[in-house]
This record gives sequence, C-alpha cells and structure tokens, in this order.
Amino acid sequence: MYAVELVNISKSFKSSQNKDFVAVKNLNLSITEGEFFSLLGPSGCGKTTTLRMIAGFELPTSGEVYIQGEPMKQRPPFHRPVNTVFQSYALFPHLNVADNIAFGLEMEKISRSEIRTRVSNALLMVQLEGLENRYPRQLSGGQQQRVALARALVKKPKVLLLDEPLGALDLKLRKEMQLELKHMQQKLGITFIYVTHDQEEALTMSDRIGVMYQGKLLQVGTSREIYEEPQSRFVADFIGESNLLMGRVIEQIGDRGIVLVDEMLLFNIISKNPLPVGEFVTLVIRPEKAVLYLATSDIQGYSGVIEEAVYLGTDTRYLVRLSEQNLITIRQQNLSNHNENNYKPKQSVKVKIIPESIRIIQD
Ligand code: ATP
Repeated sequence: MYAVELVNISKSFKSSQNKDFVAVKNLNLSITEGEFFSLLGPSGCGKTTTLRMIAGFELPTSGEVYIQGEPMKQRPPFHRPVNTVFQSYALFPHLNVADNIAFGLEMEKISRSEIRTRVSNALLMVQLEGLENRYPRQLSGGQQQRVALARALVKKPKVLLLDEPLGALDLKLRKEMQLELKHMQQKLGITFIYVTHDQEEALTMSDRIGVMYQGKLLQVGTSREIYEEPQSRFVADFIGESNLLMGRVIEQIGDRGIVLVDEMLLFNIISKNPLPVGEFVTLVIRPEKAVLYLATSDIQGYSGVIEEAVYLGTDTRYLVRLSEQNLITIRQQNLSNHNENNYKPKQSVKVKIIPESIRIIQD
C-alpha cells in the first residue's frame, strides 16, 4: 500500500479573462510509506497546487488522490491523515509556544494530561525545551519554524506535507535544519512530502525527487538518478550545472556511437538505446566529468582555450572554448600540490571527456 497515490490528477483555475489555466496536468505519482519525497521545480510549476490537493485545500479538476489506499474525494482537510507545515509558519501570535503546539490536540478533545505529555515530547523533538512560555514574536525565524513543525508532528500524522518550510531562513540555518529534518523524518518514520524550488535542498534530503515543470511531472527518481540520468533538457539544466551540446548522430554500432557537434567536434558516446543516424540529439556533460590537461600533454582530447577561471575554494570553475559556438564549463578540484590544475585565461588546454559520462537526450 502506498502512503499517497495521485492518479491522473489535473487542476485548472479560471484566469481573470475567465479562461481555464491548467496548473497541474495528468500527474501520476506513488509515494511509499516512510519515504522522504520532494517535489522540485521552478516557481509556478504547480508544486504547491499538488501539495494542496493532497492536503484537501484544493480539489482536483479530474483524477483521484488516495492516502493509505483510501480515496480522498469526500474527505475535508481535517479528516485526512496528513498535516501541513507552511513557509509562513502560520503560528497564532496571541498563543505561547506550548498553546500553539497544543491547539490542534485541544480541538480533538484529548485529555489535559495527554496533551501535556505530547506537547513536551514534541518540544523535545524540535529542541525547544524551555521556550514553551514564549510568544511567537519573541522567537527567531528558525525557532518559529520549529514550533510550526512541532505543531504538525504532535498530531502524529501519517503524512507530513511541507511547503518550502525553510524558505525564510538564512543559508546556514537552512542547511542545519535540512539535516535535522532528515534525521527527524528517519527517526519518526513518517512520510514527508516536501516542496522546494532549491535543487540542492532536494538532492540533500530526499529519498526520491519528482521534478515538475509547467504543471507536468517530468521525472521521478533518487537524487543520483535525477542528477546522473536526466531524461530531458529541462531536468539536465535545472538540477546541477550541465553543458548541453547539440549534435548530429553520424554513426552507431551496438551501444557505441559518434555524435558530431558544431560540424567539427566528434564525441564518442555510449547509449543503451539505439540512436537514429542523421538525427539531432543533446549531449549532457556535467562540469565535473570533464578533465583539463596542458595543451602539450600527449593525452587524447579536444583542444580548447580557457576563457575564464573562477576560484571557488574546493574547486575552480573554468569556461573553455571548444569551437566557435561551443563553450564548456569544467570544474576541477583544487587538490593540494597540484599546480597543473591552475590554468589561466587565454591558455590553450586539452579537454578529456569520458564517453560513459556523457548522457544523451533525444527530444
Ligand atoms: P511557487 O514555488 O512560486 O510557490 P509553485 O510551483 O508552488 O510555485 P503553484 O503555487 O502550484 O506553483 O502555482 C501553479 C500555477 O497555478 C501558477 O501559475 C499560479 O499562478 C496558478 N495558481 C495557483 N493557485 C491559483 C488560484 N487559486 N487561482 C488561479 N491560479 C492559481
């Protein structure tokens, strides 16, 4: 049984001109129990609308939402075994921390003593012990977010929905909270469905990621699958940094092929799927999968010229011109005692790209 199943759900809104605007299109997704699943995509792609349909704040125009095998069509939000944490925290300003956390339980007519126990356990879980009598205005952003989290967790939902919950925090706190959330989720075993537009955040935290674009779910997979095996130009470009080179297939024998880019660069590639000779494809090359060598080295590689070198601490990011139309970004680790790594603008170099690391997209 899945924790959440979305079967062909779509959602349309009426625009100001009374036209239908499709925010989510024919989305199918199954989320396993205990999974940390992220919906990732740029602003406006339909992530929040999808989450709100799971929560019951929006009803799908068509399709069905199942939670733990049960259809949700007739169930209002408060009768669904889910809880939502919003970016805005949505705390009650006139209630202190303990009362904010207890609020949902009091609505459920649970005994005073049980409420007290559950609230103090929740405070412990989010590391806010001792702050129970403070009001939201007396807390930092990070602390307010923890209260919002405790308030959701205290109700012991089967599924926790999180809509950009760390969006308002500064980068350092955000990174700390990412790890904490992940640990908490593993400890509690609750299914988390996490909405974010931050690809690094999704890669760090998720068991699986669903990448959305223009209302469609383009690809679902583990962080590694999404990064290493992008199936569309959009996913390759949105997740991490990619070099996307357009080329024409000029030969394929077995799983090996040759793609011609810019009428002069030949790329050896390996493809599980047969590639149509004569057709155009996109080659995806991650910046860390290309290696720079001195132009005088006898290694086999493409000749290039460094146009830009940006030192980034752990590595250096080079922009290398391979042909009139093609620049490629290469990231080289800054290893100690390795001066060869130190290339300068205008320097001629050789670029080696391992055929196995090139991904091919046909779209
Ligand atoms: P963000 O990261 O900016 O929150 P998102 O991916 O979560 O974006 P949604 O909030 O789901 O995107 O919105 C998807 C599209 O649907 C947007 O174009 C938005 O303007 C539109 N939309 C969302 N809610 C409504 C509504 N109630 N009425 C009309 N249009 C809406």
